[in-house]
Amino acid sequence: MTAATDTSPFPASPDAPSSADAVLEGLDPEQREVAIALRGPVCVLAGAGTGKTRAITHRIAYGVRAGILQPASVLAVTFTARAAGEMRGRLRQLGAGGVQARTFHSAALRQLQYFWPRAVGGELPRLLERKIQLVAEAAARCRIRLDRNELRDVTGEIEWSKVTQTVPEEYPATAAKAGRETPRDAAEIARIYTTYEQLKRDRSMIDFEDVLLLTVGVLEERPDVADQVRAQYQHFVVDEYQDVSPLQQRLLDLWLGNRDSLCVVGDASQTIYSFTGATPEYLLGFRARHPQATVIKLVRDYRSTPQVVHLANGLLAQASGQAAAHRLELVSQRDPGPEPSYTEFTDEPSEAEGVARRIRELIDSGTRPSEIAVLYRINAQSEVYEQALADAGVPYQLRGAERFFERPEVREAGMLLRGAARAGGSSDPGLDEADVPAQVRAVLGTRGWSPEPPAGSGAVRDRWESLAALVRLAEDFVRTRPEAVLADFVAELDERAGAQHAPTVEGVTLGSLHAAKGLEWDAVFLVGLTEGMMPITYAKTEEQVEEERRLFYVGVTRARFHLALSWALSRAPGGRGGRRPSRFLTGVRPGTSARDGGASGLSGGGVERGSGGRRKRGPVHCRVCGRTLSEAGEIKLMRCEECPSDLDEALYERLRDWRTAQAKLLGQPPYCVFTDKTLLAIAENVPEDEAALSRIAGVGARKLERFGAEVLALCANKEPDGIPESGESPDQQHQPTEGGGR
Ligand code: ATP
Ligand code: MG
Repeated sequence: MTAATDTSPFPASPDAPSSADAVLEGLDPEQREVAIALRGPVCVLAGAGTGKTRAITHRIAYGVRAGILQPASVLAVTFTARAAGEMRGRLRQLGAGGVQARTFHSAALRQLQYFWPRAVGGELPRLLERKIQLVAEAAARCRIRLDRNELRDVTGEIEWSKVTQTVPEEYPATAAKAGRETPRDAAEIARIYTTYEQLKRDRSMIDFEDVLLLTVGVLEERPDVADQVRAQYQHFVVDEYQDVSPLQQRLLDLWLGNRDSLCVVGDASQTIYSFTGATPEYLLGFRARHPQATVIKLVRDYRSTPQVVHLANGLLAQASGQAAAHRLELVSQRDPGPEPSYTEFTDEPSEAEGVARRIRELIDSGTRPSEIAVLYRINAQSEVYEQALADAGVPYQLRGAERFFERPEVREAGMLLRGAARAGGSSDPGLDEADVPAQVRAVLGTRGWSPEPPAGSGAVRDRWESLAALVRLAEDFVRTRPEAVLADFVAELDERAGAQHAPTVEGVTLGSLHAAKGLEWDAVFLVGLTEGMMPITYAKTEEQVEEERRLFYVGVTRARFHLALSWALSRAPGGRGGRRPSRFLTGVRPGTSARDGGASGLSGGGVERGSGGRRKRGPVHCRVCGRTLSEAGEIKLMRCEECPSDLDEALYERLRDWRTAQAKLLGQPPYCVFTDKTLLAIAENVPEDEAALSRIAGVGARKLERFGAEVLALCANKEPDGIPESGESPDQQHQPTEGGGR
């Protein structure tokens, strides 16, 4: 390890504060206390958005600018590589470049690479890139057959064992004590774990966790190495300390030696990685381990409006357990904003459409897409949102997960369905060729789909969720195309995959709650808030449910201004509607009290209900029979699916041709102009003026302004100006339509 580049003075960025004291100007009194407490152990316990990350960044910058800390003697540890990069950027802006900001892993790897030749000899063993392959080999050696999902889950158990410093022999007892749901018999996992370690040694390779374990080993066994590391790093700062693992803590203790220049910040109420072996005990027990520590609490929330903060405080007031005993009431420093909205939908596609519509409105009124996030509990929930945003022409990016159609199980399912379609349907001769959902279920049943979800968590469940999403797609698909065969469905999948793969530059973030840690957006949509998702079904013990509550709290506190919470009463359109809103909403949602067990006047049927009179839509009636409509597809068409269609097919064809030309002109996919459903609704309604056109779902203010005149001209059977000819006259294709859906 050399410090040559680290100790050289770094040029301050031109807009950096002019002096050390100027660095402090951006802080409130308590944050300032953190920044100037440069000696001895410091612990900052503070809630979300109170400026913990900001305070430690300014603390380092102040120390460096005041000449109290040598930049190269400081090691700042953050939770993710992205957070570390962000911190380095902020430090540069404050005129304190040259400070190391890293994750535990990258800091350890760097030290290990440097000291390995001296401490052990030779080059550092190769880093194992795909642990799962070696675990598979180990299982085979033990003559234990694992399917792909078990393999992933067993790998997860080995990782958990290593960060909790559990050796193979101890695994069965420790896993049982920790209440872990083991994917296979614990004794089998212990055998695979032993063999995996052996194989790794034989091939002189190390894995991700070994990097920390070996660094710990070298520092413990080689005092000369430990002395050299300690001579280099004298001051340590750790962000998100509530999620430190026992192994990371051990490494931190070794870095420190018998010194005490350590500043940790965290929020026990945001502990969300207990399942991987992290624990808030180090944060909460900091005072006990360092009796002379300066402990500072921050309570001012600079991130969120009083409305968001009120909800966050209300959630924590209902929490129980160790972290809850240390909860901190937040006080918003921001001007008031809108009340959080609580919206109930009949089914998931309607929920996604409603959310996409609201996002479109936010963007149209000036919110940048990158300032908006949709957060959900599990990655499998992303598909309906990917589709709804694509339909609404909203760019998006996925955080921490592969896009739905790129997931291995979805690609594999696509291949199998394509094969079955080519063969004229599933190989089961008992199945009706025209029953596409049954065909899809039969094919996916061979790959892990079942009518009921599998018990437990992990990869098996994730995979099932992806396959179930495909089955739902098939069911929805035949509702609009009853005559379709399997090949049509496969074509539909390809089209969707194509639309969703369109590269995006700046977009709305779609991500899991776990991946949202430490981040913030102007507008946050927390979706899928039903029992079973939030808390997730496999959270059974009280501790597990409390971790779910904290996860929800993390989600709520990501919002600066707009916060929208929503849930759907059934999964698919026309479902039984038997779901209940999340128990965490009880007592915080208007109209519910902590005692009513989640049932409330707000839940029940109905399409979309805003709270506080925001975004209330009156009921939509079928324009053929007058029935109140509840399904998203029907609302778009403005009639029941079964009611006779009065589609003007010629107009529909003209609209489609016009859309193709328009999309080409704009260089955008056709759905960004109008979706199929919207075109159908236009062709059925044949609006005569702007007012009638604007009443059709999918025709917002922006689209009306952009395309209104042309669409109305088409409806009046005139060729709109400026659009290339579409070829043959659509009138020649006119055919009478039958009643019923298409
Ligand atoms: P989390 O618990 O979610 O990690 P945090 O406590 O680390 O939150 P920060 O991300 O540091 O909070 O700060 C939240 C937001 O408030 C940031 O946008 C930050 O710039 C702003 N902020 C913090 N302190 C101040 C301050 N004194 N003046 C103005 N803005 C501030
Ligand atoms: Mg932070």
